[in-house]
Amino acid sequence: MPQVEVATVVAGGSAVVRPPVDGEPCVLIKLGEVVLKGKNRERFERRLADNLRDAVRPIARVDVIRRHGVMIVRTKDATVEKVDALAERITDVMGIVWAHRAWRVDKDPESVERAALELMAGREGTFAVRSRRRDKRFPLTSTELDRKVGAAIGGRYGLKVRLKDPDHTVSIEIDRDEAFVFSGGLPGQGGLPVGMSGRGLVLMSGGIDSPVAAYRMMRRGLRVDYLHFSGMPFTGPESIYKAYALVRELDRFQGGSRLFVVPFGKAQQQIKSSGADRLAVIAQRRLMLRTGEVLARRLGAGTLITGDALGQVSSQTLTNITALDDAVEMPILRPLIGMDKSEIMDQARRVRTLAISELPDEDCCTLLAPRRAETRARIDDLRQIERRLDVGELADQLAGSVQEHRPVYGDAAA
Ligand code: ATP
Ligand code: MG
Repeated sequence: MPQVEVATVVAGGSAVVRPPVDGEPCVLIKLGEVVLKGKNRERFERRLADNLRDAVRPIARVDVIRRHGVMIVRTKDATVEKVDALAERITDVMGIVWAHRAWRVDKDPESVERAALELMAGREGTFAVRSRRRDKRFPLTSTELDRKVGAAIGGRYGLKVRLKDPDHTVSIEIDRDEAFVFSGGLPGQGGLPVGMSGRGLVLMSGGIDSPVAAYRMMRRGLRVDYLHFSGMPFTGPESIYKAYALVRELDRFQGGSRLFVVPFGKAQQQIKSSGADRLAVIAQRRLMLRTGEVLARRLGAGTLITGDALGQVSSQTLTNITALDDAVEMPILRPLIGMDKSEIMDQARRVRTLAISELPDEDCCTLLAPRRAETRARIDDLRQIERRLDVGELADQLAGSVQEHRPVYGDAAA
């Protein structure tokens, strides 16, 4: 059997020499939007490799090997079960399109054929073999390899080849140092690695929308922290438990999430007694944003994120959104702005936050909902109310009163 070339392992930056291996289970990863070239691509891949190692740390210590357009995750004493668990966890890491549980074998036609036969053992129905060569020095062309392996599978198990819509696809990828053989794969999230695009602070209610907004911005490479306003001391702590549970679930996409909670009840009462009336909801949303901006600066975050969707509720008309933007200097990102509620709910289901969001709680906003909310808030009127309240001072105070929590994905319910 030909010797496998020494793989360059990027873990920790230093190259590690490995003995040649025949038939080792590993995870082969297809990268997302690697439209970025040159230095950015390097950054993308390094960040992704770091994020991968962090995400799977509770399962195993791994080496992440970068190749052109793919990455390979290997671990010592790899078993099929361990690699299954790794692949499953890896699908939550942003920037990945596919995670394939693959056999890493010596780079010769016989080893590839043996692995393919093993993979197809016990299967029924039709199949196709699809080979790709990232290294063109391999002795067979892709078509020749397809034919050879296909004939072996057909001969051994009596299965029929079907190129269009087969029941099973055997994929073979010939790489620089080795070959990979796999069938099927787990879809990833796509997008960019978390941390590529900077930091943001998500205004997180206990509702359906804001968790989806957080997910969508993490998928675009933002690392996010969360800010929740509770109605305490005039409501119970239920909304905080919900926010905590939501952040813990979303933490699987980035790790290290922080949840900041502000007791907002007294400030809401002040808004109410300031005579804000129909403007109370917008005035309070402006105060949330201002408080968020103070906290975001302290955290080194460059943007606020909300779950607003145009026209979804009366506070989200174009006029009101304009009035909200006026409250802060920082850009407010609203990734759900053009989405229908049903689309948002579908995504919430996939992200696994919907069931948590649907739990009952006492949303702080119900404390001061007027009979008829203003849909065309005038900025001048809002500013006048805010002068009476001294909102700058109030926002500083509120940002100073935050309690920090660290919900960790996989931790038992608090
Ligand atoms: P959600 O489903 O996210 O609660 P919503 O449709 O109920 O949104 P609003 O209550 O108007 O809409 O809130 C719009 C956005 O304002 C939310 O998506 C969230 O970003 C922010 N927000 C509202 N209430 C709170 C809160 N109590 N704490 C933090 N952010 C909030
Ligand atoms: Mg809400």
